[in-house]
Amino acid sequence: MDLGLKGKRALVCASSKGLGLGCARSLADAGVALVMNARSADALEAAAADIRTEFDVPVTTVACDVTTEEGQQTLLAAAGDLDILVTNAGGPPPGMWSDWERDDFIAALDANMLTPIALMKAVLPGMMARGWGRVVNITSQSVRAPIGVLGLSNAARTGLTGYVAGTSRQVAHAGVTINNLLPGIHATDRAVSLDKGVTEAQGITMDEAKAQREATIPARRYGTKEEFGAACAFLCSQHAGFIVGQNILLDGGGTNITM
Ligand code: NAP
Repeated sequence: MDLGLKGKRALVCASSKGLGLGCARSLADAGVALVMNARSADALEAAAADIRTEFDVPVTTVACDVTTEEGQQTLLAAAGDLDILVTNAGGPPPGMWSDWERDDFIAALDANMLTPIALMKAVLPGMMARGWGRVVNITSQSVRAPIGVLGLSNAARTGLTGYVAGTSRQVAHAGVTINNLLPGIHATDRAVSLDKGVTEAQGITMDEAKAQREATIPARRYGTKEEFGAACAFLCSQHAGFIVGQNILLDGGGTNITM
């Protein structure tokens, strides 16, 4: 299917690895020029070089922390006029409700709620003036069904979800859509670190931790960044203009809910 995105320009935050990289690669495959970002320059440059070679699209790299105001300004200055924004950042650490203090919540809110909001606020006026735009926020299945040890994530991402629910309906008239993609477990470094937490808590091996988690997923496996990226590219496509303010689970059926 032709996604109708050739020549568009996208900023994909936190995209040297994992789900962000999956999104960047799928957009590049559709002919989109990219601005890619991560904190570590080496992995970012390597990922960008692969994409330039494989898909023959322009790729600009910006090594910075997207969760800081300075990082956001640097990114936005490099990005210029954007057609597509994919927001992403690392997730907050797991823990216990009784351990988290105000500063822990402020850090989580900054990274996983206020950063995507700041980026949207900066790019939406240009998209609306040009009459076309796509925003995809990478959030988590935890906004539909909370994960106890990820209380910081549950809290911050649910706040973003509420913001998107309202804002997406305020900008849709101008040809701009905002939607959220909600990953369940995917085979990325984040999954490795979550499984490592289980090995430490339960005294089991990484294989056992993975098998234990896979058994809870109807698809009996972890998702791939390629599948995730393809869903993102479709949401950004010309065909998805009537999809507004949705929260789309990509979780192999793992979230046991009816709607
Ligand atoms: P990942 O494999 O660990 O990759 C994270 C990427 O983001 C890397 O490129 C990393 O590069 C970059 N990054 C992290 N913090 C950043 C920051 N502050 N500024 C700029 N770049 C940053 O993680 P992932 O699995 O793709 O997860 C992406 C998001 O989805 C996370 O928020 C995660 O919590 C959420 N999620 C993931 C899963 C899953 O199963 N994978 C499930 C639910 C939710 P640098 O380290 O060099 O900055």
